[in-house]
Amino acid sequence: MIHTDLLIIGAGPCGLFTVFEAGLLQLHCHLLDILPQPGGQLNEIYPKKPIYDIPGYPSILANELVDNLIKQIEPFHPGFTLGERAETIFQSEGKFIVTTHKGTRIQAPVIVIAGGLGCFEPRKPPIPNIDQFEDRGVDYYIKNPDHYSGKNLVIAGGGDSALDWSIFLADKAKSLNLIHRRNEFRGAPDSVAKVRELHENGKIKIITEAQVTGLLGQRSLDTVIVKHDREGELEIPADYFIPLFGLTPKLGPIANWGLNIEQQAISVNTFDYSTNIEGIYAIGDINTYPGKLKLILCGFHEATLMVQSAFKRVYPDKKLSFKYTTVTGIKGFEATSK
Ligand SMILES: Cc1cc2nc3c(=O)[nH]c(=O)nc-3n(C[C@H](O)[C@H](O)[C@H](O)COP(=O)(O)OP(=O)(O)OC[C@H]3O[C@@H](n4cnc5c(N)ncnc54)[C@H](O)[C@@H]3O)c2cc1C
Repeated sequence: MIHTDLLIIGAGPCGLFTVFEAGLLQLHCHLLDILPQPGGQLNEIYPKKPIYDIPGYPSILANELVDNLIKQIEPFHPGFTLGERAETIFQSEGKFIVTTHKGTRIQAPVIVIAGGLGCFEPRKPPIPNIDQFEDRGVDYYIKNPDHYSGKNLVIAGGGDSALDWSIFLADKAKSLNLIHRRNEFRGAPDSVAKVRELHENGKIKIITEAQVTGLLGQRSLDTVIVKHDREGELEIPADYFIPLFGLTPKLGPIANWGLNIEQQAISVNTFDYSTNIEGIYAIGDINTYPGKLKLILCGFHEATLMVQSAFKRVYPDKKLSFKYTTVTGIKGFEATSK
């Protein structure tokens, strides 16, 4: 059993920033996320897109913002359970125990749901035996790009994710085929241009107006069957088939926890972002209230107010005095400006 003050479900930007604000109040946090890495939508949907509305940053790439948030919370030593989904919750002696789908149990007096759009689940292409090859050559996420060095890869998809990873893996892979069912790609124009250039230079092969229809292999994947609109069936040697058709968000098991839900979001009191269950808070994209905007900076604000209330639940007898970081400093963090 893992014990902590605040269990934060969701390691997106709002969950990460909660660790900082809680840390200022000496509250320890543990982060739980179904995804294999922190960052939520920023790393999963648009890592290389610049964000222009983070205060103090005229422009920052989404993945760089995540890196900065992780650096900012390092002094507070949060715990992480990644690749696991919060499944069930029950209360015992004034504390909650959350169990993940892999059986990990985490106990905390305060639960912060920062689950964004919910659990992301990959959109799977309709290939009859695809389940059989999951973790045996079929990957829906790229967790560690080095894993694909020297391998035969088939990537499918026409959006940013398929284009960006094709560009990134072009030099690492032994061969890389990018399959898309239309001639036009949906991704950023400069990524489309780069992918076409890599094709011209023989670094990758683009096959459009085609779809992957079958997977072959004994113990693991070795061949991908592609049905081309004009050329018929093609057999392509593949150690990995990586379909990148996006992720579908689902509120998931949290929907059954007895929380007040309105249109796929958790209703909160804007005084402290508490839910209808005492001790459970909801911040970021997953909550709703009149005037709600799904913006990162709004989630940061919600996290800041929420931890003040959470503190009182963790330490009902302690007095909380508000102090600026310019006064307290952050132990273990070197000041960057002289
Ligand atoms: C293309 C795009 C562009 C955007 N541009 C901007 C912008 O310019 N400026 C801006 O402010 N905002 C922008 N946004 C919105 C911004 O990304 C969101 O407001 C922000 O990501 C919300 O952060 P979050 O931490 O609440 O949730 P998320 O980033 O969604 O993270 C939630 C995390 O919770 C996890 N999770 C959910 N349920 C569970 C569970 N049961 N168990 C375990 N883990 C769970 C998920 O896996 C996920 O990692 C953009 C969004 C998109 C899609």
